[in-house]
Amino acid sequence: MLKGKTALVTGSTSGIGLGIAKALAAQGANIVLNGFGDVDGPKAEVAALGVQVAYHGADMSKPAEIEDMVKFATKTFGSLDILVNNAGIQHVARVENFPVEKWDAIIAINMSSAFHATRLALPGMLAANWGRIINVASVHGLVGSAEKSAYVAAKHGVVGLTKVTALENATTGVTCNAICPGWVLTPLVQKQVDAKAAAQGISNAEATKQLLGEKEPSLQFTTPEELGALAVFFCSPAGNNVRGVAWNMDGGWTAQ
Ligand code: NAD
Repeated sequence: MLKGKTALVTGSTSGIGLGIAKALAAQGANIVLNGFGDVDGPKAEVAALGVQVAYHGADMSKPAEIEDMVKFATKTFGSLDILVNNAGIQHVARVENFPVEKWDAIIAINMSSAFHATRLALPGMLAANWGRIINVASVHGLVGSAEKSAYVAAKHGVVGLTKVTALENATTGVTCNAICPGWVLTPLVQKQVDAKAAAQGISNAEATKQLLGEKEPSLQFTTPEELGALAVFFCSPAGNNVRGVAWNMDGGWTAQ
């Protein structure tokens, strides 16, 4: 379905980003990976799906590097058709104790990077009159949780950016939508499970049970594969008129 298209997925060396990159690759899209840590492993996983794969190591807190990455994606495969703004980090502390540099980093990586990549990718998509911009927000783009001020502010911002991008391009072939996962067991969440277990002197399994029980009625994690399938739907012909939604996959978290 996506043969001949190019997808750039930010923060795709791990977790949800890698899951979405693999789902798009399984539909035939060539992939540009981005993110830190091991690159060879994720590259091999995507290449095994029979598509071409490239990597750009832009730090998503740096607009000039984001610009270089968008140019690289277009130059490498001839077009940039699908942009998945996924890179993100977390820090947990009360507002009055929240380290200022963590606030700035979270706003830059989790929110402003989506603005920069979007503004740079849009002209090419509009010229082709086809494009898909998918912002990985969070349930925290829809509701708050204590001790996550920067993350919740950034994710609400991403949902706002999604709506405006969708509206400004509503009469074109370029759509923009957000995905709002509840808990997904990736390294980002494993750190929160580990911190909970350490703070309360409980096992990892008990901390996981508590984490899910506090927020997620299904008591199940959403998986990167499920989120990848939603991204594929947004890119499918049936997704043509889905514009500006913030689609939760959260086990009932925001239904409460
Ligand atoms: P993860 O830690 O597994 O992956 C994060 C990715 O972002 C990695 O590839 C990492 O290298 C990359 N990254 C971090 N800082 C970067 C930077 N400055 N520049 C470039 N890349 C950078 O986390 P994840 O859980 O897969 O999170 C992916 C996205 O999903 C994030 O935006 C997160 O907020 C969102 N999300 C996660 C959950 C969850 O429960 N895990 C829930 C809702 C939303």
